[in-house]
Amino acid sequence: MSGPYLKVDVLSRHLETLGGEAYVVCGDDVFESHIELKAIQLGVTERDVCMRYSRLIQAELAALSIRCRYTNPLLDETNTEYVATNIRTIEDLVRQSSTEVVRERVGFSPSTGRYVAGCWASGKCPICSAPSGSYLCEACGAHFKPEDLRDVRPRFDALDVEPRTVSSLFLAIRKRAQLEAHLERMGVSAGFRAIAARYFDSQGPRVRLTNPSRWGIPCRGQDSVVFTYTALFSFSLFCAAELRRAQGLSVDPFALESEFVTVASFGIDNAVPYLVGVIGSAIELGRVRPFDHYLTNHFYHLEGKKFSTSRVHLVYARDLVAKAGVSADSLRYFLSRVNPELRTENFVVDDFVKMNDTYLAGVVDPALSAAWDSMGEEQPPAPSDGLVEHLRRALDNQSERLRLPATNMSAAVASLDSWIELRRSAAANACGAYWWLKGYALLAYPFLPSVAAAIWERLGHDGAPRRMGFFERPALRRVPAPRFFRKVDRGRIDGCVFRDGKTAAASTGVRT
Ligand SMILES: [Zn+2]
Repeated sequence: MSGPYLKVDVLSRHLETLGGEAYVVCGDDVFESHIELKAIQLGVTERDVCMRYSRLIQAELAALSIRCRYTNPLLDETNTEYVATNIRTIEDLVRQSSTEVVRERVGFSPSTGRYVAGCWASGKCPICSAPSGSYLCEACGAHFKPEDLRDVRPRFDALDVEPRTVSSLFLAIRKRAQLEAHLERMGVSAGFRAIAARYFDSQGPRVRLTNPSRWGIPCRGQDSVVFTYTALFSFSLFCAAELRRAQGLSVDPFALESEFVTVASFGIDNAVPYLVGVIGSAIELGRVRPFDHYLTNHFYHLEGKKFSTSRVHLVYARDLVAKAGVSADSLRYFLSRVNPELRTENFVVDDFVKMNDTYLAGVVDPALSAAWDSMGEEQPPAPSDGLVEHLRRALDNQSERLRLPATNMSAAVASLDSWIELRRSAAANACGAYWWLKGYALLAYPFLPSVAAAIWERLGHDGAPRRMGFFERPALRRVPAPRFFRKVDRGRIDGCVFRDGKTAAASTGVRT
């Protein structure tokens, strides 16, 4: 929520204020290995896990007013094409000799039918020694084979684990220079490009396409399934094709002749899959355009420790909004200010409460309410040149901070604060208050969509705030001023925050 999802929503709303159009698509990685582990833990089927968490994930996105087209590839209406897209990619790569078969060693338990790989393996990262599973290290972004893992042991009880040699399919990266040049053109940061370079140094010019498992899309042999991480490429193609159909687009966004700007947004644990697997597949395949930009993120911590569903160290956005009465806009504001775009960051409950109570409820709310109340009922005369110039600069500054590829959310949201500081001089009379509020709505819409929409509507406009509509003066609507921001109840928030499995309110409140 702090990184990939909020950021694309902010960017798409920003484009909307400019009169542009953006489509945001995301969905469930239903064949990810950890779904098997969760199914065992909950005593349900893998399909049940996917359906249940799909609903919860969508509820999280909705709680923060994050808009997207959401897809679940297990549904009857999507599954056939999803599987076909994945198989088509791999068969096309095989046909044009862009793949190689790698023999690899992996533990196998005949009694359980499980391979000591994916969710069923634990050990230490061969690069940084952090505790890790068998394909990707969440600490350093490394990607490796199960046999590379140090001190590997199975994450299940079985006495019959024996070594096996299996054949897995890998994408042969023949155009590494072209791939690295593309990453540089995309504006991927030097730190993330170094992760890709280090990967090539340790694993050679290849990346996994299949892995040994029973859960997944069967592909090229017994117990061999599509590796879902490199398959984020096929997932992207599938999403684009779905979008094209739903929107009646004349061209596929990834078509060679397409003029779409395509962007993927993800965290550091997906660095190798996206930088090497997804771009590598596109370049080796040659029949689609690779992504134009990547929005990368580091990890977000909850008070010094990684957010974790397995350790139950987390807070759900939907709980903060529905149970603790926190406004989605307030959370969005905080997450935009303190986000893991450039480095690992921390959600500290005290900091959030202080920012909400002192600044949003203590400064911003009274400023917006005062301007709202002083507007009067008549349509005002044109804005002063000074205010228009200030607004132009504020909007340009915000646009600059949200320009791909080097976005800076924290700097972009600061444009709202500067505008609030102008209130005494700019909103001193009814006319000034009208234009100052309208400027705030334009600046705020990407970050605070509810607050911005309330102002825009009060000023007589329909739809979302748009720069094109700024100088129009429709009849004002008579609406009492809403409470834009209010102080939060610290106790109710603590009741929603799970710190190592416990909330301050209920020490037995473990939930997965
Ligand atoms: Zn590592």
